[in-house]
Amino acid sequence: MTPTSFEELALAAPLKRALAEQNYTIPSPIQAQSIPILLEGRDLIGIAQTGTGKTAAFSLPILDALHKTPRRPLRRSARVLVLTPTRELATQISQSFDTYGKHLRFSKTLIFGGVGKNPQVRAIKNGVDVLVACPGRLLDHMNEGDVDLSGIEYFVLDEVDRMLDMGFLRDVKKIVAALPQKKQSLFFSATLAPAIKELAHKILHNPASVSIAPEKTTAEKVAQTVCFIDKESKKDLLFQHLKDQQGKGLTIIFSRTKHGANKLCKSINSHGFEAEAIHGNRSQPQRERTLEKFKKGALPILVATDVAARGVDVKDVTLVINIDIPNEAEAYVHRIGRTGRAGATGHAVSYCSPEEHEFFMDIEKLIQQKIPVDFDHPYHHEELASLHARGIRSSESTRDNGGNKRPGGGGGGGGGRGRQAGGGRRQQDHTNGGGSNQGRTRASSGGQRQRRRTR
Ligand code: AMP
Repeated sequence: MTPTSFEELALAAPLKRALAEQNYTIPSPIQAQSIPILLEGRDLIGIAQTGTGKTAAFSLPILDALHKTPRRPLRRSARVLVLTPTRELATQISQSFDTYGKHLRFSKTLIFGGVGKNPQVRAIKNGVDVLVACPGRLLDHMNEGDVDLSGIEYFVLDEVDRMLDMGFLRDVKKIVAALPQKKQSLFFSATLAPAIKELAHKILHNPASVSIAPEKTTAEKVAQTVCFIDKESKKDLLFQHLKDQQGKGLTIIFSRTKHGANKLCKSINSHGFEAEAIHGNRSQPQRERTLEKFKKGALPILVATDVAARGVDVKDVTLVINIDIPNEAEAYVHRIGRTGRAGATGHAVSYCSPEEHEFFMDIEKLIQQKIPVDFDHPYHHEELASLHARGIRSSESTRDNGGNKRPGGGGGGGGGRGRQAGGGRRQQDHTNGGGSNQGRTRASSGGQRQRRRTR
């Protein structure tokens, strides 16, 4: 039977005490299903994304095992290896081990790029219990003979889908090849595409599988709206939204490029708002300082790129603004997952210009949801809204890859600025304090009809 409280789980008392201190009483579904399996020592494949509580799902049973079978780790090695794609995720996981293992004695170190190698070499020289690492830098250390994986007893491969998206497959395979045969392996991914399945089969032995949150779960939890708008007006709308959001919680603004994030951040600051950017061009200490400030609530606005924001887990984010539409639909789900964390609700608003319309349509297809349109702002692009409502791609849509302009499907045109075509029905928006100008939104029923026919 699935446990309904942490008390029912066979976890060591010091772990339960740490959980109680965190006010965790009920295991999340991934925890309730995975922890008993992992405590039995079985391999696991978990289909779950960040925000489901999967970090505790794997770190609790691992800490439990370390506690129950204390052993000195081998030199230059570790007993546990957690492999994760980004520095932010690695830091987050490391912090979770500290939080849950607060009343246990264990050693731990982090290995990722962008910082000096020598302190990492020194930290693992005598062996550690837990090593949390990103693939590229770990492989460098292995090649230089500074890290040896022969002591690994527990191996966690986290966010495998992201790992593959980021081109880490070869590195991951090399790392896996260096692990001992006898170990317990845990494999987590948000999706189970064929390449991921194949990798899982290579790594895991007779795994139990647990599937929790299909990507759309987060999308359902977060109140979403789209503002159809011209590219040139986006900043003005942003300032209006930021003004309305003041005092209502933390905001993350997503920008597709590092350069865009920087420019935007400067522009926001010059309008009297306090914002800082995190992206790959900033040094690790700078990123950490910014994140820490944001988490503490001392910084109200964070401007981020997709990669930099992976693993950012801040409970009080009530508003996510997509100043541009990501060209990969899955990135949208990850972006909006930065709000609505751990059962809380949040609001995500996306600014879509005619050039981005095609990407936006991809997103609605992926999440199988029609995102309500916020037409109640001064920059509303009625022509685009009208096309969208009728399921017609804007003829201005472009694809980034190759820069090929795609002609509008289905003839485009029509609509014109003015009343929205498609018999739009006014709808009370599901804002929850995070948003601002989202008082009323309208999802065109005509559009929904059209969509159903075309899907
Ligand atoms: P994760 O999916 O591991 O990134 O966790 C998402 C968030 O949920 C983190 O802020 C955790 O601290 C929180 N969390 C994890 N498990 C629980 C739980 N059982 N009860 C309450 N919060 C939790």
